[in-house]
Amino acid sequence: MTSPIWHPFTQHALEPTLQKIAATDGAYLIEENGRRVLDAISSWWVITHGHRHPLIMQAIRHALDRYDQIIFAEYSHDPAEDLARGLVKLAPAGLNHVFYSDSGSTAVEVALKMALGTFHNRGLKRSRIVVMEHSYHGDTIGTMSTGERGVFNAAYEPLLFGVDTIPFPDPGEEQQTLDALERLCRSGQTAALLIEPLVLGAGGMKIYAPQLLAQLREITKRHDVLLIADEVMTGWGRTGTLLACEQAGVAPDILCLSKGITGGALPLAATLATSEIFEAHCSTDRRKTFFHSSSYTANPIACAAAVANLDVWRNEPVLDRIATIETLHRERLRRFESSSGIADIRQIGTIAVVELAVPAGGYLSDVGPKLRRFFRERGALIRPLGNVIYLMPPYCVTEADLDLAYDAISDGIDQLARGAL
Ligand code: PLP
Repeated sequence: MTSPIWHPFTQHALEPTLQKIAATDGAYLIEENGRRVLDAISSWWVITHGHRHPLIMQAIRHALDRYDQIIFAEYSHDPAEDLARGLVKLAPAGLNHVFYSDSGSTAVEVALKMALGTFHNRGLKRSRIVVMEHSYHGDTIGTMSTGERGVFNAAYEPLLFGVDTIPFPDPGEEQQTLDALERLCRSGQTAALLIEPLVLGAGGMKIYAPQLLAQLREITKRHDVLLIADEVMTGWGRTGTLLACEQAGVAPDILCLSKGITGGALPLAATLATSEIFEAHCSTDRRKTFFHSSSYTANPIACAAAVANLDVWRNEPVLDRIATIETLHRERLRRFESSSGIADIRQIGTIAVVELAVPAGGYLSDVGPKLRRFFRERGALIRPLGNVIYLMPPYCVTEADLDLAYDAISDGIDQLARGAL
């Protein structure tokens, strides 16, 4: 019997049924037939330490004995309080207030509303959002509006609002990006720059230098424009530091976190804001209230998982593991330097990228799905973004696991070149 499930980002005409996963274990997914598949992309970048980290699982079990969902407009609870204090401690200085939601998209939506609310409550007319070319911030109407326009959102275009875009800083062309932001900020209409720090993820794992982020930050500060750092993907160690912003010495006005906030165990998100932004919403005038909520805000079980994740970061050598993965990637990426048909090789932290020179068809070409199938057969979950093959493994991954993934990538590229896929 066919399943009634409609899966995300899945063309069911080409993939009528999907394999079931029976269990997860460390860096591996275990298919129903018992086959172990390396989760080389951390299940859409959420699993940081590995599947089912024992401390996080234990915290969830404990929390289940006390809580389920609790309305968060009327009450608070320890897991949310403990987590908020922990997040403020680890975030760049000045981000003193924590607003909870439940996905990366909602974390960004909340950030956009905070930015506009701040200027609105101060009686200022600033409502334009600046984004970077090739960005991705989610799939809700608001976050799609701020992301790259193209095949993914063409049908919904009439619902999307306009934003201002600065070019991605290709090497040698950084000044154009800076000049574009400067020009836009001078208009006096800009409320915020929304940006993925150091790596544009779904837009093709495009990497830019920390120095540029610092320069962009300087421009926003000069023009009293808010900086929203979307660290939904880059946060929790992916780029080599806990947060990517750290590498640029940048403290944003608003910080969006999700994915690895619970180590990937449960859905949760947090949007951190400065006291200035919080104060702009604090008034005896009730119209200045921050009007946002969702039913499952600050779910206690998810918050308890996130508190345990903070303990893992405190008590285990997570950054050492990440540094080891970075070195292993560097050594293994070298094999592609002499390969033909490669447009670019790049890496940062636990993210390694091999960009193929062909095809130009982007996401709609059948190269990605062909490679994906080949990689799965070889025992690794790797989902190329069009012609961009990347790895983003959980931090428990071993050298042997990485060898499996890299061998699969090399062989897949060879087979593709020979027309054998
Ligand atoms: N922002 C960034 C940078 C992301 O990479 C993603 C998802 O990949 C999102 C936002 C949206 O997160 P979610 O899929 O949890 O809504």
